[in-house]
Amino acid sequence: MWQAEVRVDLDAIRDNVAMLRARTSAEVLVAVKADGYGHGLVPAGRAALAGGATWLGVATLDEALTLRRAGVQAPVLAWLLSPGLPLHEGVAAGIDLGAATTGLIDELVAAARRAGRPARVQVKLDTGLSRGGAVASEWPALLESAAKAQAGGDIEVVGVWSHFACADEPGHESIDRQLAAFHEGLALAATYGIHPTLRHIANSAALLTRPDTHLDLVRAGIAAYGLSPIAGETYGLRPAMTARARVMLAKRVPAGQGVSYGLTYTTERETTLAVVPLGYGDGVPRHASSAGPVRVGGTTARIAGRVCMDQVVVDVGDEPVVPGDVATLFGPGDDGEPTADDWAAATGTINYEIVTRFGSSRVPRHYVGEVAR
Ligand SMILES: *Cc1c(COP(=O)(O)O)cnc(C)c1O
Repeated sequence: MWQAEVRVDLDAIRDNVAMLRARTSAEVLVAVKADGYGHGLVPAGRAALAGGATWLGVATLDEALTLRRAGVQAPVLAWLLSPGLPLHEGVAAGIDLGAATTGLIDELVAAARRAGRPARVQVKLDTGLSRGGAVASEWPALLESAAKAQAGGDIEVVGVWSHFACADEPGHESIDRQLAAFHEGLALAATYGIHPTLRHIANSAALLTRPDTHLDLVRAGIAAYGLSPIAGETYGLRPAMTARARVMLAKRVPAGQGVSYGLTYTTERETTLAVVPLGYGDGVPRHASSAGPVRVGGTTARIAGRVCMDQVVVDVGDEPVVPGDVATLFGPGDDGEPTADDWAAATGTINYEIVTRFGSSRVPRHYVGEVAR
C-alpha cells in the first residue's frame, strides 16, 4: 500500500525512444542525467536502450559510474566535469568524457596513463550558448592539445559536439547561426587531423524540428520521458511519470475559512478540503500554492493556499472525497488528470523541472511496464 507514489511507465520511455529513433537516421543518445529527469537513472537508461537508444548521456562522472556499476554496458557520455575528478575511474569504465579545456585534456592524458588505456574524449565547442564548451577563440588551442594527446596514444577523440540555446523556439535565428559555427568548428578540427565519428548538436527539440542538425547522433532528453520541449506540440509522445497520493483527511468547512500557512486562501463557500500527503519536500513546487491542479474523484481542483513541506490542501468543493481516495497531481492525462505541462503552466516553469523535482525523492518510485519485469 502506498501513501504517495511516483509511478514511472518504463514502456512509455521505451516507446517514446523507439518513435524518436524512427525520426532520424542518426544514433540516439538518451540523456538520463538528474536521476533520469526524475524517472530513475538506471531504469530509465535500460528502458531507453530497450527502445533502441545506442548511447546514454549524463552530466556527472558519478552518474556515469553508477550506470556502469548497475551493469549498463552501453556507450555512456558524461559532459559536466570540473577539474580534479578521479577521471581514471571513468576511463577505466570506458566512459566517454566531454572536454572543453586544455586543462581537462591534460587531466585526461594523466587519467589514461593511470587507467592503462586511452581516454575516449568528446571535444565540446561553444557555438553560442555560452555555457559549457570552448569559445571559438579557444578552439585552436583546444584542438591542438587534443590532436597532440591523440597522436601520443593517450586519448581518442571520438566526438566533437555542441549544444543549442534556442532549439525549443523553432525558427529562432540562433539555430542556424550555431549550426554554421559548429560546421566551422568541425572543419577546423579536420585541419588538426581530428575526424570524429560522432558529430552532434541536436537535443530533443532539434531532433523533432530540424533534421539537418541530426548529424551522427542526437541527444534526446525530455522527449524520451514523453514530454514535449516545444509548448503546444505533443508529437505523439506519452508522458511516463505520474505523481499521486492518497487523500489523508477530508473535512467539511464553512465559507470564509482560511487554509494552510499564512491563511492565504479563504474558502468562498462551504466546501470540502482534502489533505494530500505530498509537499515541497517531495518535489511539489511551493510556487504551486493556490495554483497547482489536482485530480480527485471526478473533479480537477486546485491546491488551496500554501504548499507545505509534506502536504497540500485541496479545495474539492462538493466532490464526495473520502480518505484513501487517489489524488493525482499529474500524469499522462488518460483519466482527465493534469499533465506535467499543466503544472509547468500553473507554476511558471517548464515540464523538465516538474518531473525532475521528483527525482531521488522520499516518495517511492514504482516502475510499471514490460521493461520493468
Ligand atoms: C540535458 C541535455 C540534453 C537533452 O536535452 P533535452 O532538451 O531534454 O532533449 C542534450 N544535451 C545536453 C548537453 C544536455 O545537457
